[in-house]
Amino acid sequence: MEDYLENLALNPYMTDLCQGSSAIRKMDQIAKDMAAKYGDDAIHNFSLGNPRVLPPEEYDKIMKETLDDKSFFLPHGYAPNTGDQPGREAIAELFSKLQEVNITYKNVLLTAGCAGAINVFLRTVLSVGDEVIIPSPYFLEYPYYVENFHGKCRFCETTFEEGWQINKERFEQCFNAKTRVVIINSPQNPTGIVYTEKTIQMISEVCQNFSKKYGRPIWIISDDVYCRVLRPGKKPHQIFKFYKFSAVCYSVSKDLSLPGERIGALILNPAMKLCERNIHALSMSNEFLAIYPPNRLHMRAMPKLLKYTANVDLYSESQEIVEEALKELKIEYVQPEGTIFVFPKIPYDIDEMSFCKAMVENFIVIVPGSAFGKKGFYRLSFCKKPEDIKRGMEQFKIAYKKVIEELTHQKKDNQEKH
Ligand code: PLP
Repeated sequence: MEDYLENLALNPYMTDLCQGSSAIRKMDQIAKDMAAKYGDDAIHNFSLGNPRVLPPEEYDKIMKETLDDKSFFLPHGYAPNTGDQPGREAIAELFSKLQEVNITYKNVLLTAGCAGAINVFLRTVLSVGDEVIIPSPYFLEYPYYVENFHGKCRFCETTFEEGWQINKERFEQCFNAKTRVVIINSPQNPTGIVYTEKTIQMISEVCQNFSKKYGRPIWIISDDVYCRVLRPGKKPHQIFKFYKFSAVCYSVSKDLSLPGERIGALILNPAMKLCERNIHALSMSNEFLAIYPPNRLHMRAMPKLLKYTANVDLYSESQEIVEEALKELKIEYVQPEGTIFVFPKIPYDIDEMSFCKAMVENFIVIVPGSAFGKKGFYRLSFCKKPEDIKRGMEQFKIAYKKVIEELTHQKKDNQEKH
């Protein structure tokens, strides 16, 4: 009897999630078993999204100065639900430059990371059953964020052949009277691509047309968490110039390498007349979801911190090392323009799970594309230092040649048997 009750302790949604064995979890388990057998150093983990480059040099000094600054009233007290004004002003200044429109602190809400910003936004605009369009492949947590607020995901396929840009026809087919939000992410996890101005213009026009058709605004949320993790000479996209009902979600998790500190922001397009009312509504979600603005100490340091980034140029060096190896092996991929990821293709229609499993067994951990909604590909993260990537890619080359040879043989044998 007691065992039976224990099985019902969680709600059915969480029970299902716990029972599900995601692709990532499976790879993780094999990697752990391999590390236990051969030692941690033998495993080259290319599955990580946790930046290994250090925060900017100035970080420690800024935090010490912030602690020593006694001019704040109740420096560790509860903050306003919108976040402290100096931090909001610093975000407004940064995004006025990045988006090339005039943003004030009144358009900004401080949040617990970029994930906090997306969740607060969805809590504030979604009604039960509303649909959210997500271009696929996508950041694997989006569907859970949508389900948090009883929304429904509609995935818009993008393809390797089209450089992972959004296709107008397929995008238009995703809309109906329930569509409320489109989530875009660029530079994108997992492909590393940046949406072109043509793509941004197209999705803005389509959203405008469907907003008119269905008589309520369809929002575009732009996840810009990698907007300052770009390769030299590349520019982030600028949604505010093209579409009024837009919001940008951002954090310092990637560009300052501070993901554990949960410093983020949500910026509303200042073109909206009711911007202040909307920020007020969002700030209530910030409070009621109990994720609040970032911690007070970091919020106080934001005006100084945001002037810097970690040494993200190291990622360009790491990407070059990865690309050199991919080219040598004649692996197809779309060249990343930002982020810390590349999303290569698995050749000869080889089964994705067999490929990734065999790679782990040969000391290379990568994430199968199905984790991001796209079979036949895998995500390789180069968020480590170039010297570590170099060592890892040497083993990658050995593993890849061996695995492809074995799996193509196996495939041929199976075909001959049938
Ligand atoms: N969006 C994307 C595309 C990400 O890759 C991540 C983290 O990896 C997040 C959002 C979450 O960011 P944060 O840690 O700032 O909440």
